[in-house]
Amino acid sequence: MTLPDWLPIREELRADEPYGAPQIDVPVRLNTNENPYGPSEEVAVEIAAAAKAVAGSLNRYPDREAVELRTQLANYLGHRLSSQNVWAANGSNEIMQQILQAFGGPGRTAMSFAPTYSMYPEYARNTHTDWVSGRRSEDFTIDVAAAVELIERVRPEVVFLTSPNNPTGTALSANELNPILAAAPGIVVVDEAYAEFRRTGTPTALDLLAANPRLIVTRTMSKAFALAGGRLGYLAADPAIVDALRIVRLPYHLSAVTQATAVAALKHTDELLAKVDEIRTSRDETAQWLRDRNYEVAASDANFVLFGHFADRHLVWEGLVDRGVLIREVGPDGWLRVSIGTPAEMQAFRNALAEVDPR
Ligand code: PMP
Repeated sequence: MTLPDWLPIREELRADEPYGAPQIDVPVRLNTNENPYGPSEEVAVEIAAAAKAVAGSLNRYPDREAVELRTQLANYLGHRLSSQNVWAANGSNEIMQQILQAFGGPGRTAMSFAPTYSMYPEYARNTHTDWVSGRRSEDFTIDVAAAVELIERVRPEVVFLTSPNNPTGTALSANELNPILAAAPGIVVVDEAYAEFRRTGTPTALDLLAANPRLIVTRTMSKAFALAGGRLGYLAADPAIVDALRIVRLPYHLSAVTQATAVAALKHTDELLAKVDEIRTSRDETAQWLRDRNYEVAASDANFVLFGHFADRHLVWEGLVDRGVLIREVGPDGWLRVSIGTPAEMQAFRNALAEVDPR
């Protein structure tokens, strides 16, 4: 994309490209960590009924505070959280941008540890927040001593930690989080977009909220809840943090249709999450199949698997696309990421990879 010279865009944006995975129309799409199972007919009918119920009053602005939705989200999270601890927005992307609008900004710094979700630097750019990236270890865990040292040196206002991490699948334990929380002078965000997929025994940072008022745990309905198209992300934190975000949010940012959709979906939590166990099992089977074929596979607590190494990963990615299977060319050079789809989709992935990269 080349922007015309006459366009008075901020200079630092001029050479940038809009973020996004290629949306190629192929039969097997395993590239954006979506849930492959859509809502059932019954849930779809209820979502439609909820949208219809608000349709007649769309001349009015929605509930600015989204109280019913935040109450339902707090109930889902448990941990003695109430609506005052929860904030919601159009995807956790918007939540994180709001966090930097409130806690970042000119003269302030945000930090994360790469390889990690590549949108964080873009939220920083959008909010004029300085950006510092630490490195994860070779096995994609966080070297706590090095992280603490970097945090103490830079003193960032916001630290983003991702658990399970995208694109590696790596989860963080309380032993890793606690020293970072103790060292960080400002806000620590633990992005738990993939939390529901974590393996048994892997903790959630929600456990640490009560003792850490500067901790924010973000979640999304895009993955486990199979609601990526509904655009609903949320966070749990101290009510003072929620109040700070209410200052920067746009008025009526969550449409009445979005709120009604999410509330209807949350009434069917058990059903929507029913496929999560299947996806976790399939993730473990996929990782094992890749290991059996002598690939290196990052330990994953998410609904995707990062594997490598390839001398030319683009060639492999392209070979898969030619066979109707779209995965993601992301993460450190030489690695590829596959999202977990239906059994038929995973079989198509295996067949295509075996053809493209016979071993
Ligand atoms: N955090 C992580 C780690 C992600 O991978 C994603 C989506 N790929 C998001 C946040 C944003 O998700 P959404 O805006 O759909 O909630």
